Amino acid sequence: AEEEVPPIQKHRVTSKGSDVPTPITTFEDLRERYGVSSRLLSNLSDNSYKYPTGIQAHGIPILLERRDLAAISPTGTGKTLAYLTPIMSALGSPISSRKNDGGHGARAVILAPTRELAHQIHNECLKLAAGRKWRVVLFSKATASTLSDKNVRDKVDIIISTPLRLVASIQEGKLELNNVQHLVLDEADRMLDPEFLSQVQEVIAACTHPDVQKAVFSATLPAGAEKLAMGILRNPIRIIVGLKDT
Ligand code: ADP
Ligand code: MG
Repeated sequence: AEEEVPPIQKHRVTSKGSDVPTPITTFEDLRERYGVSSRLLSNLSDNSYKYPTGIQAHGIPILLERRDLAAISPTGTGKTLAYLTPIMSALGSPISSRKNDGGHGARAVILAPTRELAHQIHNECLKLAAGRKWRVVLFSKATASTLSDKNVRDKVDIIISTPLRLVASIQEGKLELNNVQHLVLDEADRMLDPEFLSQVQEVIAACTHPDVQKAVFSATLPAGAEKLAMGILRNPIRIIVGLKDT
């Protein structure tokens, strides 16, 4: 039946960069190759994510190998899971479930250009988070004020936000991003255009952790945005996914 065809076969994928990891064929490959947890894998299958899409097959190993990534893949090809899956795996366990670890603030930040999009990303993230005490914050005026309590803020795992809101909290001294080890710019073509660029640069500057992994995801990346992205990323791999027959 047609639905049995792994989506990966529908895509033509080009990768550029040094030491590009081999793509996965099934999500199960992630267990053997990277020790991705059974919980995360069952959260994928419980949501009928059967086969990785092209961007997921290629992108997830790259991010799990802690490389920076510029990923260009058409709308609807599952870019959200392509970054959320490796981030959740890399974070390991929710900070609130760890004994003797009070936490030091969010370890992952995902930036999106609109509140609606941030909301959709949050929903995808909650699917992967099911069954564990992940604190995934959809940043808003209300959550920003809750997070003004350092004890609450320290135990957050992942923040999903538009740039403006995050920058406001940073500027007010109510948020630090010095523990962020994964930073994603979703819809990067918009995030790197003049409307958002200076805010995005402020967020990047606030992510002072020496090992911060950065990734940009977009359906398109015009030359100007691509140049900016290459300035932000360290020794990145670039993946371009095109639909066959187009
Ligand atoms: P993009 O960001 O590339 O536009 P999304 O991440 O919004 O795409 O995903 C589009 C849709 O595809 C969502 O409804 C998502 O749940 C679904 N999806 C993502 N990955 C898979 C997968 N591996 N198998 C089936 N559906 C998927
Ligand atoms: Mg998207």
